[in-house]
Amino acid sequence: MSENLNVLTSTQAIIHEALNKLGYDEAMYELLKEPLRMLQVRIPVRMDDGSTKVYTGFRAQHNDAVGPTKGGVRFHPGVYEDEVKALSMWMTLKCGIVDLPYGGGKGGVICDPREMSMGELERLSRGYVRAVSQIVGPTKDIPAPDVMTNAQIMAWMMDEYSLMDEFNSPNFITGKPLVLGGSQGRDRATAQGVTIVIEEAAKKRGINIRGARVVIQGFGNAGSFLAKFMHDLGAKVIGISDAYGALHDPNGLDIDYLLDRRDSFGTVTTLFENTISNKELLELDCDILVPAAIENQITADNAHEIKANIVVEAANGPTTAEATKILTERGILLVPDVLASAGGVTVSYFEWVQNNQGYYWTKEEVEERLIKKMVDAFENVYTTATTRNIDMRLAAYMVGVRRTAEASRFRGWV
Ligand code: GLU
Repeated sequence: MSENLNVLTSTQAIIHEALNKLGYDEAMYELLKEPLRMLQVRIPVRMDDGSTKVYTGFRAQHNDAVGPTKGGVRFHPGVYEDEVKALSMWMTLKCGIVDLPYGGGKGGVICDPREMSMGELERLSRGYVRAVSQIVGPTKDIPAPDVMTNAQIMAWMMDEYSLMDEFNSPNFITGKPLVLGGSQGRDRATAQGVTIVIEEAAKKRGINIRGARVVIQGFGNAGSFLAKFMHDLGAKVIGISDAYGALHDPNGLDIDYLLDRRDSFGTVTTLFENTISNKELLELDCDILVPAAIENQITADNAHEIKANIVVEAANGPTTAEATKILTERGILLVPDVLASAGGVTVSYFEWVQNNQGYYWTKEEVEERLIKKMVDAFENVYTTATTRNIDMRLAAYMVGVRRTAEASRFRGWV
């Protein structure tokens, strides 16, 4: 039988198990197995050639018992409803793990920004905000960047919301450019969070980051900054990839050169002839493997071939449930997505707090607070996993879902 690659049903199964272990009954699972709200919208966009194209978009709000929902908006041709639902549930877990006063939300639009002009992208971004405007807002649901969306897109979205709101509303969205109320460090926050948990995981495994061989799948926002941070810490980044292929050099790649040559969507391998496949990249002999691209990359088919000592998930959902089991049984330390990639939403929260206060923090203040959040979260999940003798993913789900379950109970919902 082939394994379950549906990210929604596999997420539901782990949430179910986590709630059972925490002592909650079926009613709690019934509440948390799907988002409270899921809006599907159609967005007409005038294209540069004068034609109109109608795009499909989504916004899912998993649970707002703890506070407003929070999470990114992705622009990708492969976006689908169940994926957006699962992504919103993962945001609930992330916010729970790093202890932010939010529930999870997520949005997506089926489109390929690589094939759109800046004008078309701007009209799509503004159209998306108008389409979901009734259910989002600074105290309801706060969007942010995700796959193939960036600070410029956040700026257009913030501007559109402000026009509708007849008020300047920086706290409507996070991941904005600095001049529009963005936070210091937000652009690199996901990668910084990943770096912090890599350092913690390496300590547990007695691995010295200096000289460690690191492989990173994906060269987008998370992957590219991470390659830089690992390189600067003295690690040897021996493999990186993008959607089109991968590069490998056992002596370490020239990361600064690659960063210089990558385009804004993270494409760089097309400039080279000696590429390897993404499959070969994942199976390279290394100490630390970081999937930082998309879902279902480590599956039952290749989990036995992974040679890393530590796998840290910077992407959302890169490892299937079956593969999680195999890696754990093989003694590989897996740091799950909902923990490893929580640095982005953590600094988004800091950005929102600064917007609400109208008072802005220094880069050092942001960094210090981020390190504390991530180190505490790692320790909490790691201790839960070892004391209960469960895998890191289930431990992270237990830590992550607990607050939302408790808040739902206090509110009398279940
Ligand atoms: N899209 C990012 C994530 O998946 C960040 C979300 C946010 O900053 O709200 O965690």
